[in-house]
Amino acid sequence: MKIGIIGAGIAGVAAAARLSARGHQVEVFENNGYPGGKLSEFVQDGYRFDAGPSLFTMPQFVDAVFREAGENPQAHFQYEKVPVVCRYHWDDGTRLNAWAEPADFAAEVERILGVPAPTLLRFLENSRRKYELSGQIFLEKSLHKADTWLNKRVAKALLHIPEMDIFSSMNAVHERDLKHPKLVQLFNRFATYNGSNPYKAPGILTIIPHFEHGIGAFYPKGGMFSITNSLYELALRKGAVFHFNSPVSEIITENDVAKGLMAKGEQHSFDLIVSNMDIYHTYKKLLPHARHPERTLQQERSTSALIFYWGIRQQFPDLQLHNIFFSNDYLSEFEAMAAGQVCDDPTVYVNITSKYSPGDAPAGHEAWFVMVNVPANSGQDWDAMIERTRRNVLRKLSHNLGVDIGALIATEATLDPRSIEAKTASYQGALYGTSSNSQMAAFLRHPNFSSRIQNLYFAGGSVHPGGGIPLCLLSAKIVDELIFGRFDGLR
Ligand SMILES: Cc1cc2nc3c(=O)[nH]c(=O)nc-3n(C[C@H](O)[C@H](O)[C@H](O)COP(=O)(O)OP(=O)(O)OC[C@H]3O[C@@H](n4cnc5c(N)ncnc54)[C@H](O)[C@@H]3O)c2cc1C
Repeated sequence: MKIGIIGAGIAGVAAAARLSARGHQVEVFENNGYPGGKLSEFVQDGYRFDAGPSLFTMPQFVDAVFREAGENPQAHFQYEKVPVVCRYHWDDGTRLNAWAEPADFAAEVERILGVPAPTLLRFLENSRRKYELSGQIFLEKSLHKADTWLNKRVAKALLHIPEMDIFSSMNAVHERDLKHPKLVQLFNRFATYNGSNPYKAPGILTIIPHFEHGIGAFYPKGGMFSITNSLYELALRKGAVFHFNSPVSEIITENDVAKGLMAKGEQHSFDLIVSNMDIYHTYKKLLPHARHPERTLQQERSTSALIFYWGIRQQFPDLQLHNIFFSNDYLSEFEAMAAGQVCDDPTVYVNITSKYSPGDAPAGHEAWFVMVNVPANSGQDWDAMIERTRRNVLRKLSHNLGVDIGALIATEATLDPRSIEAKTASYQGALYGTSSNSQMAAFLRHPNFSSRIQNLYFAGGSVHPGGGIPLCLLSAKIVDELIFGRFDGLR
């Protein structure tokens, strides 16, 4: 079968690897001159930066692509478990290392915050339980196929609905179970892992900490970009063909069947099309004449981000790979974002890859990826907002680290919602497609196939099961299984 893929984001690359490994003829059309979309890298003045994602969880989903393609993952992609998942800072001087090992993490929380260790261990155990009951149903299968719902696991999960905290907010679950305001804030931040608001997102998202504290946070050898690169090379080995600098302008349909695509003014015929382009723009730009699922397309977007990439002329031995400097008023931070603004005391995330890849910065220096969550782009005055936020970020970091960080910046680049949209065609520059700020969010995400246009499939952060590398990889797996079930599986 001839399959055309639009976009070489991580889901597009993973879909290309999976489908070509099954023997299909796969061609990928990518607007940029490189693979990876948000998961790319760049080098500036001797510093290497991962451009987008910095936290790697669920490495088994990368390994699975190699295994299912008949290759040994370790031969092509290596990673190590990070012992301190994150170092947390508060302006009042409180410092806390979140150890990967739950017992160590709980002991640290007891020592620093006075919260008895069993409180945290019980919370993490509940997180694991909820994930094991719901993860396979809500993340690993299409929610729009009867087989998913006719499974024994669903009946089991339904029996446990009261324990899943679906009808409380994440914040309410954390206040109930963890109580200490700093611990509540620490766990509320997990809502931002899919661009949501902990004061609105349903309590079932308390499964997210299990990814980090149950399974672990990992660092890929060579940096985050090696996730893209290793899967890209796998796809090439399996025979996929990539056309870079090839924007697709239309999906060609005949009588509601996808027949091919237009790229750079040329028509290409395919038996199936997989779009890895944001679902909003797939409909609006590539299928302007089709009927659009407006209710789905108008769902609230996830948050976006403002990133300062800084080459820093000093090393900070106390800092870890992942570091958080918390806002003094977390609720106000999310209220400001809901109003389309960035507050003056935002939570600041600092990722330092040179802790694990020393070659990412010159000797004695560090490569910093400094990120603040910001609302999706709705035409705000970003230039003014960036200038103000940069000042606020520098003030916060300098206060916490006891040194003028601004004076240490050797080189600088920025990324904001406008440039995220320009570089990856993500509607409004959202990082994770639609937000998970409602109980129905999982069901309102677009399915991985079109019910109106035959032979058209979708993979990536804006469709089921959602954004973030692990879920994007699962979307490629679901598409692969849907196609396999319809065609190869029936041969
Ligand atoms: C700053 C930032 C930080 C993040 N942090 C994390 C993190 O720590 N951990 C994590 O797991 N996730 C993180 N994410 C989210 C994660 O990066 C995304 O969910 C994921 O990479 C999205 O992949 P995707 O397959 O949906 O494609 P995208 O990366 O969105 O790429 C889509 C691709 O399609 C191409 N394209 C679009 N339209 C066309 C067209 N018409 N023709 C041809 N090509 C087209 C684009 O050029 C692009 O390459 C972060 C994202 C950002 C931006």
